[in-house]
Amino acid sequence: MKEDICTIPVNEVFEVKDGCPICRMRAELEERALDFVMGAAMMEPDIRHETNHLGFCPQHINMMCTRSNRLSLALMLESHLEEIDNAVFGSHQPSVLHSPASLATASAGDAGEITHSCYVCNRMNRSLDKELDTLFKMWKNEAEFRESVRNQPCFCLADYALLLSKGIKSLDKKSFPEFYEAVSSVTRKGLDGLREDISGFCKMYDYRNNGADFGNLRDAVKNAVAFLNGRR
Ligand SMILES: [Zn+2]
Ligand SMILES: [Zn+2]
Repeated sequence: MKEDICTIPVNEVFEVKDGCPICRMRAELEERALDFVMGAAMMEPDIRHETNHLGFCPQHINMMCTRSNRLSLALMLESHLEEIDNAVFGSHQPSVLHSPASLATASAGDAGEITHSCYVCNRMNRSLDKELDTLFKMWKNEAEFRESVRNQPCFCLADYALLLSKGIKSLDKKSFPEFYEAVSSVTRKGLDGLREDISGFCKMYDYRNNGADFGNLRDAVKNAVAFLNGRR
């Protein structure tokens, strides 16, 4: 399989051997989605239509707040807040046809939906799906890439689940068992290392280790948390 515009980003992510490669892939796509929405795209009517409708999750709106382009954010919020006003309040006006309970249920439902949707998450996940499709093609066609997957230090728990659930659908009966074996042995090996480090970290609090240097164990809790929360 020749290197092309699709395979390069996947190869680059797997060349680094530090933590979960899918988390790295997601972080890059997240940056790109944030750059996109905070840039000129937010003035495009079809993009704005989507941001007005979907809004942003707490994590992404916080990330947008830390960026310098405050006016972009304010303009998007101006029309998004207007849409919230219409969707949550304007379209559920009190009337003789509806009881307060049914109005409240519909209004709460619309408000809840907006709090759960996010333009950046949607855009990032669409790109992630495409990169994972490429990853599965590379797994099927490139021995070198298969080796690179086997040499990863770990996949986080959520991405272990993601790779397997998508792999079952994307790989044929011949390629999937080898993929499953590789991804599970990498993850299990990573988990063994984390367990060992966490036990080592706990033992450092024993009085017999008083004053001893934590060395690499200093990162034990941070690494175990990253394995669990998928930000590795
Ligand atoms: Zn991950
Ligand atoms: Zn989001």
